[in-house]
Amino acid sequence: MPDLVIPAPPQTTIPTADGGHFPVRRVYCIGRNFADHAIEMGHDPDREDPFFFQKNPDNLDPSGTFPYPSRSEDVHHEVELLIALKSGGTDIAVDDALDHVWGYGVALDMTRRDLQGIAKKSGRPWEIGKAVERSAPIGPVHAASRIGHPSEGRITVSVNGQTKQDGDLNQMIWKVPEMIAYLSNYFELAAGDVILGGTPAGVGPVERGDTMVAGIEGLGEITVRVT
Ligand code: MN
Repeated sequence: MPDLVIPAPPQTTIPTADGGHFPVRRVYCIGRNFADHAIEMGHDPDREDPFFFQKNPDNLDPSGTFPYPSRSEDVHHEVELLIALKSGGTDIAVDDALDHVWGYGVALDMTRRDLQGIAKKSGRPWEIGKAVERSAPIGPVHAASRIGHPSEGRITVSVNGQTKQDGDLNQMIWKVPEMIAYLSNYFELAAGDVILGGTPAGVGPVERGDTMVAGIEGLGEITVRVT
Protein backbone atom coordinates (compact mmCIF):
# COMPACT_ATOMS: atom_id res chain seq x y z
CA MET A 1 0.00 0.00 0.00
CA PRO A 2 1.26 3.51 -0.78
CA ASP A 3 1.61 5.90 2.11
CA LEU A 4 -1.78 7.69 1.89
CA VAL A 5 -1.80 11.27 3.14
CA ILE A 6 -5.54 11.07 3.89
CA PRO A 7 -7.67 7.97 4.54
CA ALA A 8 -8.73 6.21 1.32
CA PRO A 9 -12.33 7.04 0.33
CA PRO A 10 -14.59 4.00 0.57
CA GLN A 11 -15.05 1.81 -2.52
CA THR A 12 -18.67 2.02 -3.65
CA THR A 13 -20.31 -1.37 -3.86
CA ILE A 14 -23.88 -2.24 -4.75
CA PRO A 15 -25.71 -5.34 -3.53
CA THR A 16 -26.32 -8.35 -5.73
CA ALA A 17 -29.45 -10.46 -5.59
CA ASP A 18 -27.53 -13.47 -4.21
CA GLY A 19 -26.06 -11.54 -1.27
CA GLY A 20 -22.80 -10.43 -2.88
CA HIS A 21 -21.40 -6.97 -3.53
CA PHE A 22 -20.57 -5.48 -6.92
CA PRO A 23 -17.75 -2.89 -6.78
CA VAL A 24 -18.44 0.17 -8.94
CA ARG A 25 -15.81 1.93 -11.05
CA ARG A 26 -17.69 4.34 -13.32
CA VAL A 27 -21.33 5.20 -14.12
CA TYR A 28 -22.39 6.05 -17.68
CA CYS A 29 -25.97 7.13 -18.44
CA ILE A 30 -27.49 7.34 -21.90
CA GLY A 31 -29.78 10.25 -22.82
CA ARG A 32 -33.01 10.02 -24.83
CA ASN A 33 -33.00 6.26 -25.43
CA PHE A 34 -36.77 5.83 -25.75
CA ALA A 35 -38.49 7.60 -28.66
CA ASP A 36 -41.55 8.61 -26.64
CA HIS A 37 -39.31 10.21 -23.99
CA ALA A 38 -37.24 12.04 -26.64
CA ILE A 39 -40.51 13.47 -28.01
CA GLU A 40 -41.75 14.55 -24.56
CA MET A 41 -38.44 16.40 -24.04
CA GLY A 42 -38.89 18.23 -27.34
CA HIS A 43 -36.44 16.26 -29.50
CA ASP A 44 -36.54 14.35 -32.77
CA PRO A 45 -36.83 10.63 -31.98
CA ASP A 46 -34.93 9.63 -35.14
CA ARG A 47 -31.94 7.49 -34.43
CA GLU A 48 -29.11 9.99 -34.03
CA ASP A 49 -25.83 8.91 -32.44
CA PRO A 50 -26.34 8.09 -28.76
CA PHE A 51 -24.92 10.43 -26.14
CA PHE A 52 -23.90 9.77 -22.57
CA PHE A 53 -23.32 11.69 -19.38
CA GLN A 54 -21.89 10.39 -16.13
CA LYS A 55 -22.94 10.10 -12.56
CA ASN A 56 -20.50 9.36 -9.77
CA PRO A 57 -20.15 5.85 -8.34
CA ASP A 58 -21.17 7.06 -4.89
CA ASN A 59 -24.41 8.54 -6.33
CA LEU A 60 -25.69 4.93 -6.47
CA ASP A 61 -27.78 4.25 -3.38
CA PRO A 62 -29.52 1.03 -2.36
CA SER A 63 -30.93 2.50 0.88
CA GLY A 64 -34.54 2.98 -0.27
CA THR A 65 -34.57 6.66 0.66
CA PHE A 66 -33.87 9.61 -1.60
CA PRO A 67 -33.13 12.90 0.15
CA TYR A 68 -34.61 15.74 -1.92
CA PRO A 69 -31.53 17.50 -3.28
CA SER A 70 -30.62 21.11 -2.52
CA ARG A 71 -31.16 24.08 -4.84
CA SER A 72 -33.93 22.56 -6.94
CA GLU A 73 -37.68 23.00 -7.13
CA ASP A 74 -38.24 20.39 -9.84
CA VAL A 75 -36.72 16.97 -9.22
CA HIS A 76 -37.86 14.25 -11.64
CA HIS A 77 -37.90 10.45 -11.59
CA GLU A 78 -36.51 8.44 -14.53
CA VAL A 79 -36.72 4.64 -14.21
CA GLU A 80 -33.89 2.83 -16.01
CA LEU A 81 -32.28 -0.55 -16.62
CA LEU A 82 -28.95 -0.85 -14.80
CA ILE A 83 -26.25 -2.83 -16.63
CA ALA A 84 -23.20 -3.93 -14.59
CA LEU A 85 -20.00 -4.91 -16.44
CA LYS A 86 -17.61 -7.66 -15.32
CA SER A 87 -14.99 -6.78 -17.95
CA GLY A 88 -14.41 -4.21 -20.64
CA GLY A 89 -11.93 -2.97 -23.19
CA THR A 90 -11.96 -0.69 -26.22
CA ASP A 91 -13.63 -1.11 -29.61
CA ILE A 92 -15.83 -3.97 -28.41
CA ALA A 93 -17.87 -5.55 -31.21
CA VAL A 94 -21.66 -5.50 -30.82
CA ASP A 95 -21.69 -9.30 -31.12
CA ASP A 96 -19.22 -9.67 -28.22
CA ALA A 97 -20.66 -6.98 -25.97
CA LEU A 98 -22.95 -9.12 -23.80
CA ASP A 99 -19.94 -11.25 -22.78
CA HIS A 100 -18.86 -8.25 -20.68
CA VAL A 101 -22.10 -7.97 -18.68
CA TRP A 102 -22.18 -9.32 -15.13
CA GLY A 103 -25.82 -8.52 -14.47
CA TYR A 104 -28.83 -6.23 -14.48
CA GLY A 105 -30.92 -4.26 -12.03
CA VAL A 106 -33.48 -1.51 -11.54
CA ALA A 107 -32.31 2.09 -11.14
CA LEU A 108 -33.75 5.58 -10.90
CA ASP A 109 -31.91 8.47 -12.56
CA MET A 110 -33.16 11.26 -10.31
CA THR A 111 -32.69 14.61 -12.00
CA ARG A 112 -32.79 18.25 -10.95
CA ARG A 113 -34.77 19.09 -14.10
CA ASP A 114 -34.74 22.84 -13.53
CA LEU A 115 -30.95 22.96 -13.21
CA GLN A 116 -30.51 20.53 -16.12
CA GLY A 117 -32.74 22.82 -18.21
CA ILE A 118 -30.56 25.85 -17.45
CA ALA A 119 -27.44 23.83 -18.29
CA LYS A 120 -28.94 22.70 -21.61
CA LYS A 121 -29.96 26.24 -22.56
CA SER A 122 -26.55 27.68 -21.78
CA GLY A 123 -24.58 24.81 -23.32
CA ARG A 124 -23.12 23.80 -19.97
CA PRO A 125 -22.42 20.28 -18.67
CA TRP A 126 -25.29 18.36 -17.04
CA GLU A 127 -23.60 17.30 -13.82
CA ILE A 128 -25.39 19.91 -11.72
CA GLY A 129 -28.67 18.33 -12.76
CA LYS A 130 -27.60 14.70 -12.81
CA ALA A 131 -24.53 13.82 -10.72
CA VAL A 132 -26.28 14.69 -7.50
CA GLU A 133 -25.89 13.13 -4.06
CA ARG A 134 -27.75 9.80 -3.84
CA SER A 135 -29.38 10.55 -7.20
CA ALA A 136 -29.41 6.95 -8.37
CA PRO A 137 -31.54 4.79 -6.08
CA ILE A 138 -30.94 1.18 -7.13
CA GLY A 139 -32.05 -2.35 -6.45
CA PRO A 140 -29.91 -5.47 -6.29
CA VAL A 141 -27.99 -6.58 -9.37
CA HIS A 142 -29.15 -9.93 -10.77
CA ALA A 143 -26.45 -12.10 -12.35
CA ALA A 144 -26.88 -12.61 -16.09
CA SER A 145 -25.70 -16.18 -15.50
CA ARG A 146 -29.01 -16.74 -13.69
CA ILE A 147 -31.50 -14.48 -15.45
CA GLY A 148 -30.02 -14.07 -18.94
CA HIS A 149 -29.92 -10.80 -20.85
CA PRO A 150 -33.31 -9.02 -20.81
CA SER A 151 -34.15 -7.33 -24.12
CA GLU A 152 -37.85 -6.91 -23.43
CA GLY A 153 -40.06 -6.58 -20.38
CA ARG A 154 -42.18 -3.96 -18.75
CA ILE A 155 -40.38 -1.01 -17.09
CA THR A 156 -42.51 1.12 -14.79
CA VAL A 157 -42.50 3.62 -11.98
CA SER A 158 -45.37 4.75 -9.83
CA VAL A 159 -45.52 7.65 -7.39
CA ASN A 160 -47.85 7.20 -4.42
CA GLY A 161 -49.53 4.31 -6.21
CA GLN A 162 -50.14 6.20 -9.48
CA THR A 163 -48.37 4.82 -12.55
CA LYS A 164 -46.22 7.55 -14.12
CA GLN A 165 -43.89 5.73 -16.50
CA ASP A 166 -44.88 2.50 -18.23
CA GLY A 167 -42.72 1.27 -21.08
CA ASP A 168 -40.98 -1.82 -22.36
CA LEU A 169 -37.26 -2.54 -22.67
CA ASN A 170 -37.93 -3.49 -26.29
CA GLN A 171 -38.54 0.24 -26.98
CA MET A 172 -34.90 1.13 -26.29
CA ILE A 173 -33.46 2.88 -29.35
CA TRP A 174 -29.91 1.75 -28.53
CA LYS A 175 -29.87 -1.82 -27.25
CA VAL A 176 -27.54 -2.99 -24.48
CA PRO A 177 -24.88 -4.49 -26.81
CA GLU A 178 -24.92 -1.34 -28.96
CA MET A 179 -24.48 0.94 -25.95
CA ILE A 180 -21.50 -1.08 -24.73
CA ALA A 181 -19.92 -1.16 -28.20
CA TYR A 182 -20.46 2.57 -28.73
CA LEU A 183 -19.11 3.58 -25.32
CA SER A 184 -16.03 1.38 -25.86
CA ASN A 185 -15.18 3.37 -28.99
CA TYR A 186 -14.72 6.48 -26.85
CA PHE A 187 -13.76 5.17 -23.41
CA GLU A 188 -11.89 2.19 -22.06
CA LEU A 189 -14.57 0.17 -20.30
CA ALA A 190 -13.61 -2.06 -17.39
CA ALA A 191 -14.95 -4.37 -14.73
CA GLY A 192 -17.10 -2.40 -12.31
CA ASP A 193 -18.49 -0.01 -14.90
CA VAL A 194 -22.24 0.57 -14.73
CA ILE A 195 -24.53 1.84 -17.49
CA LEU A 196 -28.02 3.28 -16.99
CA GLY A 197 -30.04 2.48 -20.10
CA GLY A 198 -32.37 5.46 -20.47
CA THR A 199 -35.97 6.09 -19.53
CA PRO A 200 -39.41 5.77 -21.16
CA ALA A 201 -41.93 8.63 -21.37
CA GLY A 202 -43.75 9.94 -18.33
CA VAL A 203 -40.95 11.56 -16.35
CA GLY A 204 -42.24 13.97 -13.77
CA PRO A 205 -41.70 15.64 -10.42
CA VAL A 206 -41.59 14.16 -6.95
CA GLU A 207 -42.10 15.86 -3.60
CA ARG A 208 -40.82 15.15 -0.12
CA GLY A 209 -42.94 12.40 1.41
CA ASP A 210 -43.65 10.68 -1.93
CA THR A 211 -43.10 6.96 -2.36
CA MET A 212 -41.77 5.76 -5.70
CA VAL A 213 -42.01 2.13 -6.76
CA ALA A 214 -39.81 1.33 -9.76
CA GLY A 215 -39.79 -2.06 -11.43
CA ILE A 216 -38.56 -4.02 -14.42
CA GLU A 217 -40.09 -7.35 -15.37
CA GLY A 218 -37.76 -10.11 -14.16
CA LEU A 219 -35.66 -7.78 -11.99
CA GLY A 220 -38.12 -7.00 -9.23
CA GLU A 221 -39.21 -3.69 -7.74
CA ILE A 222 -37.58 -1.07 -5.58
CA THR A 223 -39.47 1.17 -3.19
CA VAL A 224 -37.91 4.55 -2.57
CA ARG A 225 -39.19 7.22 -0.24
CA VAL A 226 -38.43 10.88 -0.95
CA THR A 227 -37.29 12.55 2.29
MN1 MN B 1 -31.91 9.16 -17.54
